[in-house]
Amino acid sequence: MAVEIIEGCVNCWACEPLCPNQAIFASAPHFLVDENKCTECAGDFDDPQCATICPIEGVIIDDLGIPFNPPGSLTGIPPERMAEAMAEIQAR
Ligand code: SF4
Ligand code: SF4
Repeated sequence: MAVEIIEGCVNCWACEPLCPNQAIFASAPHFLVDENKCTECAGDFDDPQCATICPIEGVIIDDLGIPFNPPGSLTGIPPERMAEAMAEIQAR
């Protein structure tokens, strides 16, 4: 039982100090999780602390490959509207 950090992580360091098991470490090209140390925070917190603070959607996944913060969950922008929304923002 362990989470995984995948491509898209922007190496912001937000998650690293929150891990109760020191399972998160800097690597290239992005942070990684030591699967032998990660407990998904069971026994320490109700939710995986790394996923609660991560500002990037979709980069922390569970052992089934399901993201804790799926596309749209943090921005409030549905994935199918993202390209349109980015174009609107860049036109400002
Ligand atoms: S789920 Fe919890 S134990 Fe696992 S890497 Fe994230 S903060 Fe650490
Ligand atoms: S909080 Fe998210 S984006 Fe930041 S280092 Fe951790 S996994 Fe990467």
